[in-house]
Amino acid sequence: MSDQEDIAYNVLQLLGVALLQRTGAMQYVVCGKVPQFYEVLFPSTAEGPCAAPWKFSPMLEFFMEDVERFFELKKTGILTSGVWQENGKTETDTAMIAAATTFGAKQVLTVRLLRAEFKERQDVREQSLQHRQLSQNLKYYQKEATLDALTKVFNKETFSALLLDEIKRSHALEYPLSLLILDIDDFKKVNDTYGHLAGDKVLSSLAECVKKTLRSGDIVARFGGEEFVVLLPHSNAKQAHNIGEKIRRNITLIRADVHHPITVSMGCATYIPGEVSENFLARADTGLYEAKASGKNRVCTR
Ligand code: GH3
Ligand code: MG
Ligand code: MG
Repeated sequence: MSDQEDIAYNVLQLLGVALLQRTGAMQYVVCGKVPQFYEVLFPSTAEGPCAAPWKFSPMLEFFMEDVERFFELKKTGILTSGVWQENGKTETDTAMIAAATTFGAKQVLTVRLLRAEFKERQDVREQSLQHRQLSQNLKYYQKEATLDALTKVFNKETFSALLLDEIKRSHALEYPLSLLILDIDDFKKVNDTYGHLAGDKVLSSLAECVKKTLRSGDIVARFGGEEFVVLLPHSNAKQAHNIGEKIRRNITLIRADVHHPITVSMGCATYIPGEVSENFLARADTGLYEAKASGKNRVCTR
């Protein structure tokens, strides 16, 4: 060995590394080793533990394939090989770092066992998985808290906040904002005839139907009982009325185990710049009252 190789060799020994010299494809002879690695890497054979050519343990063979590939790809000088890491989880929970190195003309494989470090890494990974799971749960519950439990559209509290935001935005960006309030016609009869569970099913089918009829920027919420509200940014009175009509028609097609068409009445209003949100809602509600009073299953604009 040259002085340089000698130094490298001793450094590797000090680092706690088993040093193997490559003598052919998948053939290495041990030229330096530390006893504690010895047993794991090189199971005893009848000829004794240090027989050569080496019979590698399955764990080492696992690395060998990559080492071969590494040698193919890399032409390196003394100890400039870089370390490429591979963590193979094995029965003994031991991981290895292997470094393929070229000492002058000699190709050498160094192997280091990383039992403790591997465990540590596992712990960190475990923790970050737990952390990710927690934040996913948190996001889920934050979203759930904004929704109505039965119909999965926004709840009233969320709607009230969104309404104020939308009023501000439509005012600042000068686009029309319209509102529909929707109430199921004769819903008591649905409950009385088909039962409360069937009534619930109608409510969730209806919410689904309304969502499907709308554009992505529109907002649907359950306002209470069998009343829903729909906020329509960028829609003027005429457009909102047309959307209301479309919703009304689509709702009559819902079946949900109920053997007669479900109909709804709607009140419609378009925001008047400067009015308070309560007034905006009250005008739509007056429209709804008129729709009910004039025969139901219709949209009245206020
Ligand atoms: P109208 O056409 O005048 O609106 O008649 P209606 O029968 O719909 O009358 P009203 O609005 O007064 O009654 C609403 C009914 O909706 C009463 C209540 O039992 C029912 N309801 C409210 N919330 C729920 C719910 O979560 N599930 C079910 N199944 N029924 C509900
Ligand atoms: Mg009602
Ligand atoms: Mg009703």
